[in-house]
Amino acid sequence: MNADPYRPTDAATPLTLALSKGRIFDETLPLLAAAGVGVPEKPNASRKLILPTDNPALRLLIVRASDVPTYVQYGAADFGIAGHDVLYEHVAEHPGGLYQPIDLNIARCRLCVATPKGFDYQAAVRQGSRLRIATKYVRSAREHFAGKGVHVDIIKLYGSMELAPLVGLADAIVDLVSSGNTLRANRLVEVEEIRPVSARLIVNQAALKMRGAALQPYLDAFARASADMDGNGGGGPLISDRP
Ligand code: ADP
Ligand code: MG
Repeated sequence: MNADPYRPTDAATPLTLALSKGRIFDETLPLLAAAGVGVPEKPNASRKLILPTDNPALRLLIVRASDVPTYVQYGAADFGIAGHDVLYEHVAEHPGGLYQPIDLNIARCRLCVATPKGFDYQAAVRQGSRLRIATKYVRSAREHFAGKGVHVDIIKLYGSMELAPLVGLADAIVDLVSSGNTLRANRLVEVEEIRPVSARLIVNQAALKMRGAALQPYLDAFARASADMDGNGGGGPLISDRP
């Protein structure tokens, strides 16, 4: 452990980009290609957690999606790619150090409320029923229902939210949806969209000051390449984590 946990990697270490495998990794590859970088190994095939690129000055750190902001905030990665869903929850719990994310317009989906097929959500809301909501997006869920004046008990889960209503743990879930196949397979229906979601680029602030010259070409290339992708990203600006 470094004496100063906020110290970024130094000039001798390659620039380090933290991201998760799966959809975010797959959709980041074209952005890296636009910056002239190829990735010879895939995270699943190699099982490596630090993946080299064909540019010795840039390496990838493969971490859990919800851990990306933490690696970047503490300077263990110079920059990272994480969904608006993850960042929105992270800044509420870890104020300071992460700001000005760039919307990359990738890994797009939507955060929504879903219930079992037979459950009359609108009637429950109208009648002022207290709802049990299972989710890993505690802040988003709390704010959404508070905004509607609906009383809820939030049950925090870490995965497979779709299961909760099927076994009586919750009336509804707040989760990400893209195709809707997972909901359908579990006889759930989307009853309300909370917000669209897309992935963002976040940068460690000390790294931006000390390694700005090395970082800037990537920030520019990613911004250019993602602007070429159609539509507006999701989620809107993050509520600032600074006073
Ligand atoms: P984990 O399982 O580690 O939480 P995932 O790989 O399932 O992470 O999701 C990573 C990110 O991919 C999410 O935080 C979100 O921003 C994005 N994403 C886009 N579409 C979906 C989707 N349909 N389901 C889950 N995540 C999605
Ligand atoms: Mg997942």
